[in-house]
Amino acid sequence: MRKFEYFAPQSLQEAIDLLRQRGDGGRPLAGGTDLVAQMREGTLKFPFPSYLVSLRRIPELKGIEFSEGEGLRIGAGVTMAELAASPIIRERFPIIADGAGLVGSIQTMNMATVGATCATLPPRRTQRRRSWPARPRRSSRGPQGDAPCPWRSSSWALVALSWPPLSC
Ligand SMILES: Cc1cc2nc3c(=O)[nH]c(=O)nc-3n(C[C@H](O)[C@H](O)[C@H](O)COP(=O)(O)OP(=O)(O)OC[C@H]3O[C@@H](n4cnc5c(N)ncnc54)[C@H](O)[C@@H]3O)c2cc1C
Repeated sequence: MRKFEYFAPQSLQEAIDLLRQRGDGGRPLAGGTDLVAQMREGTLKFPFPSYLVSLRRIPELKGIEFSEGEGLRIGAGVTMAELAASPIIRERFPIIADGAGLVGSIQTMNMATVGATCATLPPRRTQRRRSWPARPRRSSRGPQGDAPCPWRSSSWALVALSWPPLSC
């Protein structure tokens, strides 16, 4: 595999600053199950990244929250294994837990993140994920702050997916 630089920021803003300052050629890295495999195999659909910014230690991308009043929020960095094992997801949204439990092997589920499955799709296609209860709202952060995902750009990060309370 070709050489690349690797950064492991501790906060979301630090990650965005790195992507902005170092410019085109970089890529956010979550679990790496897709990106690293494609880098190894030479099957990337974009140029080989000159640097990777790991999102794994970023607290803002963690957590699953649910309340009747606020609805559901899943951090982009939540892994498929965390989603499949979450008591609130299993109880309230079993179709999401079941879907997460079908992503590859246990090793893949321990690494693969929720955010990465959506970050590489145009927003209108996010709703086609069969295990989502409805089209999620995508929160993201880029050089201009919190803004809708410019999904073709590499200098932003998907932060969370959320669903408002169902009104039926
Ligand atoms: C054995 C195996 C089985 C698999 N089975 C399935 C399956 O059943 N269903 C399925 O959908 N997928 C499957 N996959 C594909 C892959 O694992 C998933 O799509 C997974 O969700 C990727 O997550 P990741 O965190 O590893 O992403 P990464 O490989 O880290 O990143 C993938 C892409 O998303 C971008 N990205 C990641 N996080 C963010 C973010 N927060 N903001 C902006 N960009 C971001 C990266 O820059 C990169 O371009 C499988 C893969 C393997 C190896």
